[in-house]
Amino acid sequence: MSKQHDRLQTITVKDNALQIAGRSAEQVVEIAGGTPSYIYDRSFLTERVQALRELMPSELKLHYAIKANPMPAVVHHMAGLLDGLDVASQNEMMIAIGAGIDPEVISFAGPAKRAEELRAAVAANIVINVESCLELERLYQLSSNMGIKPRVAFRVNPDFELKSSGMKMAGGPKQFGIDAEQMPELLSALDTGKIDFYGFHIFSGSQNLNPKALVDAHNKTFELAERLSGLVRGPVRHVNIGGGLGIPYFPGEQKLDVRPVAENLQQLMSHRAGSFKHSDIVMELGRYLVGEAGYYLCRVTDKKQSRGQTFLMTDGGLHHHLSNSGNFGQVIRKNYPVLIANRIDGVEKEVVEIVGPLCTPLDIVGAKLELPVAEVGDLVVVFQSGAYGATASPQGFLSHPHVRELLV
Ligand code: PLP
Repeated sequence: MSKQHDRLQTITVKDNALQIAGRSAEQVVEIAGGTPSYIYDRSFLTERVQALRELMPSELKLHYAIKANPMPAVVHHMAGLLDGLDVASQNEMMIAIGAGIDPEVISFAGPAKRAEELRAAVAANIVINVESCLELERLYQLSSNMGIKPRVAFRVNPDFELKSSGMKMAGGPKQFGIDAEQMPELLSALDTGKIDFYGFHIFSGSQNLNPKALVDAHNKTFELAERLSGLVRGPVRHVNIGGGLGIPYFPGEQKLDVRPVAENLQQLMSHRAGSFKHSDIVMELGRYLVGEAGYYLCRVTDKKQSRGQTFLMTDGGLHHHLSNSGNFGQVIRKNYPVLIANRIDGVEKEVVEIVGPLCTPLDIVGAKLELPVAEVGDLVVVFQSGAYGATASPQGFLSHPHVRELLV
């Protein structure tokens, strides 16, 4: 049976149990070797990319920002579906190369890149999104030392911000990229004998559910890209316009309507001028591609009452799923969608606090949730857990076992 659930895509339920990728939640956990585990649904990933491609302009290049979920099996699957991968460290670069994708469509952004990371990126011949003038100097030096011309794009800190974003990453003083105002001088002095100029990277924000704000940012991004392209001698091979498409996590949030964003991009792409006219336009997405494909599953290990409240204690928590606990950028904690995976439709309900095994009151899986009455041994599922989960959490804290991960 398929059913609509608050904030979720349609979920499938059989014999009162949540089905994930055609199996019961209990079965997938069994395959993963137990709880706590993240389960990622392969066919959901495929369908998400296909649906986005159908909406977006056909010439738009879609990249996966692997920081959202760098599990090698996930990255390998995404590499086969998308036009490129974006990485944020040397280890992510190694995962991307391991996925077998052409290095020319791997790009590396990140402030404070280490010397070894820059050398590795030059050796691998991936595109390096340069984030400071000193970083450019270092690449000139590496070019001479290593006898390889680095592929360089400039990450630009634009003179605008992506409004109503979960995370604003541009506009104003920022540690990311080079201010747009500094670009003319930098471009006029560019030594293309030492580097291979690729283009620009203009990333303004993340987790945005407001199509108007995305349209506004894209308009400004294209304007800036055209202005900067006019300052470059020779071709601008690609312009990465960032991403920012969000997914609904919390009560009251609606699924993003991508259609107006796609229609506007089509307009912008077909009305370009100058050398920008022939640049590949790249959109770099993380959570929008993988976030809704992931489930975090943990088991109820104890149940107790404390001064009128019912606590479900679980073997999972903040150390695996920091963002769900509310400690990864939230100001006021709100619940992700949480259910009892083996009692989706229990008639008798109670209000519970679901907590983990850590010695901190911050270790919350779900607060004040009205759910079917659960027992020790039941499975708790946290939806929307495919992005910023295992690798965005302090797994070493209290030295509990690391979380298992399965792509199925
Ligand atoms: N690219 C860059 C440069 C980022 O900083 C981020 C997030 O911070 C992303 C991509 C991925 O963002 P999201 O997962 O929200 O799509």
